Amino acid sequence: MKLLDGKKTSNDIKDEIAAEVAKMKANGEKVPHLAAVIVGNDGASLTYVGSKVRACERVGFESTLVQLPNTTSEVELLDKIEELNSNDDIDGFIIQLPLPPQIDTQKVLMAVDPSKDVDGFHPENFGKMALDMSTFIPATPFGILELLDRYGVETQGKHTVVIGRSHIVGRPMSILMGRKGFPGNSTVTLTHSHTKNITQITSQADIIITALGRPKFLKAEMIKDDAVVIDVGITRVPDENAKRGYVITGDVDFENVSKKTSYITPVPGGVGPMTIAMLLKNTLLARERRR
Ligand code: NAP
Repeated sequence: MKLLDGKKTSNDIKDEIAAEVAKMKANGEKVPHLAAVIVGNDGASLTYVGSKVRACERVGFESTLVQLPNTTSEVELLDKIEELNSNDDIDGFIIQLPLPPQIDTQKVLMAVDPSKDVDGFHPENFGKMALDMSTFIPATPFGILELLDRYGVETQGKHTVVIGRSHIVGRPMSILMGRKGFPGNSTVTLTHSHTKNITQITSQADIIITALGRPKFLKAEMIKDDAVVIDVGITRVPDENAKRGYVITGDVDFENVSKKTSYITPVPGGVGPMTIAMLLKNTLLARERRR
């Protein structure tokens, strides 16, 4: 079993981005500027946004955090997005999800200027991704592709099973693994909560990507020997022995599954840090496109 080490790989990517930023500075060019908008005080969302802002500092980007109260109306948020769209100094921005119930998430994501949509959630960018056109690939799927690429994991002709069909992970992942090229050229099965006999499907898979948010869902008896397992799940499971009162748990029963795999991502330290690194990469791309 070999670990797909997202912590180390994401640090390598951040070093590469920092070197690019240093070159920009040396040439007297403007450095990339990422803004993040958060509505409300959800603990996990604040943690994620904080990590994104710190990552910007680490690579030399400028960053702006826009914190809005939980009572923010849809119109107020749309006004803020318009402001960010027309602010020439900002190269890219993200809206941290989930949003409070009074706000229509789809409407908000549609309002982001596609050229600044570094999360790759706008339908224009999603459509381009599906058509193999150059675009912003959503950060989590992009991070998984990068891990497979950097570790030279063969995907061509393999059977990839994706568990979960969210718009931000499972669905784009299924498209990307089936596209022409590397990583890709896989035969993909996309599964969800209505899938019957999931063990029958996962036990035929060469590559399994779990993105469902159910701790330790994937068990050793559900996979074949030497499978590649990518665990996207992040769930806070209460644990009174832990310092914070919870432990971060993935969708995979790592202890038992890892014994049968050829490659596997740990949680934490797998897909999570890659997501942030790829958000930075998309922001660098946004700056280069605007230059
Ligand atoms: P989500 O919107 O929470 O949706 C979960 C998906 O899993 C749905 O498509 C659902 O099917 C499917 N599902 C639920 N139970 C299932 C079952 N028993 N068998 C098969 N499929 C099942 O998904 P998400 O936003 O992608 O989040 C998934 C997990 O990834 C969460 O733990 C989240 O925290 C984590 N995540 C991590 C990162 C990262 O950076 N590492 C980024 C994003 C998300 P239906 O469509 O039928 O309801």
